[in-house]
Amino acid sequence: MTDKALRNFDIERFQRTLIDWYVKNKRDLPWRKTKDPYRIWVSEIMLQQTKVETVIHYYEKFMENYPTIFHLAEADEQKVLKDWEGLGYYQRARNLHEAVKEVVETYGGEVPQDPNDLAKLKGIGPYTKGAILSIAFGQPEPAVDGNVMRVFSRLLNIDDNILEQKTRRRFEAIVREVIAKDDPSSFNQGLMDLGATICIPRTPRCEVCPVQPYCRAYLEGKQHELPNRKKKAKHRTKQFVAVCLVNEKGEIAIEQREHKGLLASMWQFPMFEKDDVKKQPLVELFEKKYGMKIAITEKLGNVKHVFSHLTWEIVVHKASLEGHLPEGRHSLRFVSEKELGDFPIATAHQKMLRLIE
Ligand code: SF4
Repeated sequence: MTDKALRNFDIERFQRTLIDWYVKNKRDLPWRKTKDPYRIWVSEIMLQQTKVETVIHYYEKFMENYPTIFHLAEADEQKVLKDWEGLGYYQRARNLHEAVKEVVETYGGEVPQDPNDLAKLKGIGPYTKGAILSIAFGQPEPAVDGNVMRVFSRLLNIDDNILEQKTRRRFEAIVREVIAKDDPSSFNQGLMDLGATICIPRTPRCEVCPVQPYCRAYLEGKQHELPNRKKKAKHRTKQFVAVCLVNEKGEIAIEQREHKGLLASMWQFPMFEKDDVKKQPLVELFEKKYGMKIAITEKLGNVKHVFSHLTWEIVVHKASLEGHLPEGRHSLRFVSEKELGDFPIATAHQKMLRLIE
């Protein structure tokens, strides 16, 4: 199904503009002088987390030492790691070496053209797979990395968080649709060059951008706001002790949460942070906060509730009032079981209700 962001997007003209620009302006890189899938594979692995300028020298030396897939497959791992020295992230070299050996053993040294077979090789993720298939074999496979997501976020004015997996999948589906079927190699490499030289992270060079006429973020002046890469808040766990206080009429005490913040204005059972309960007995904390004496009668159980960024772990106790309800104001409200249904109760506390029942 076509992504809604592609409605009214002139795919054909965009393809032609991008490819024409790429053909005239492509960077002169050694791995662009070949269609050998092995060489393209090595270059893509080296380019992960390493700048193009640094890779050029290493790539050329590596190709002198291992001109074919068989040379690399037969090499001693220690020697391969030595030749990788300076590029860092040595796991890339180990994975490449193992995968190359597998290609020689299983496929007779022919890099597989089947996307599923290629994806099974060590160290080949969706981006590398797409790059090899499109550049070496001319297959219309998307090769989506951070650069391509940045370009498409801006082009189509998409605000999805590019740090989320589902956003990557969305962009892969979009590129799969937009990619030029007759020249996927130039199309993907054109996107790579555009992201590396024109549609750069903080200061996109829109004034010289070949695809500016198609760019919706530019049209709306939002090119500096995209892509959206909000870091997810770290998931935290908070522990509480809750009190299910029942009066002599069998009514249960609830209170309303603050009018702002998490679960604003919802109703809940009185609740204390576990750290506070460790420092002072629960009954004393309760009296201090609500001005009433209680007695804990039993432990009802535990409740866990997971929010997007936070988990609550709550120990629930049942309690009874000691003596009379004090005069004066306090924030608790005693309601019958029937009346409880009229209050918006936070889900975590609804779980507690089930314990009480
Ligand atoms: S016009 Fe600007 S924001 Fe849009 S693709 Fe080109 S460089 Fe990127």
